[in-house]
Amino acid sequence: MAKITVDKTKCIGCGSCVALCPNTFKIVNNKSVVQKKEVKNPACEKNAEASCPVQAITVKE
Ligand code: SF4
Repeated sequence: MAKITVDKTKCIGCGSCVALCPNTFKIVNNKSVVQKKEVKNPACEKNAEASCPVQAITVKE
């Protein structure tokens, strides 16, 4: 299982992670909140990690 985390101090609420992985991320009060903290196959989460403009997302396998 991969662990998904978002550093709220870095997140600027751009919504890119939500567009890529709507089941995993959700914007609440302009910050991304992780809905699914553990994911078996983190394909879209890894895309989100790479696409985040401020490197706020960590996918730990
Ligand atoms: S892609 Fe990064 S900065 Fe944008 S909402 Fe997601 S965590 Fe925040």
